[in-house]
Amino acid sequence: MSREDLGFSGRLDVLVLTKYAEAVPCELKLGHPHLVKPPIWDRMQLASYAILVEKAFNKTVRRGVIFYMEQEKPHLVNINWGMKKQVEEAIKKLREMILTESRPDNRRADYCKGCWYARVCGSY
Ligand code: SF4
Repeated sequence: MSREDLGFSGRLDVLVLTKYAEAVPCELKLGHPHLVKPPIWDRMQLASYAILVEKAFNKTVRRGVIFYMEQEKPHLVNINWGMKKQVEEAIKKLREMILTESRPDNRRADYCKGCWYARVCGSY
């Protein structure tokens, strides 16, 4: 699925269409056996899929599900307008950064420590 107007695309793991015609995007993830709540980056990824599903199916997406393979129970994530707006803003900012070849201005040691892009992005 893609949104040319926002300039992003993605491949959702599973889309559930309920008997009430609700579209529920679902993501399968490895690891995280001890997570109580999905981290913000996983929730925002789900919200980005919600945006794509809304466009593709002309439906409002209000929730999604994240399954961590090492956990027994799935996480139901409410996806509201604010989350979708945050995704759109982040995508716009990313596109600007790519065009201007600038680095993120709010790098954080705790987030960036294990990031694959740290070598080109920051000094962590
Ligand atoms: S190092 Fe990784 S996580 Fe940190 S700002 Fe750069 S891209 Fe983002």
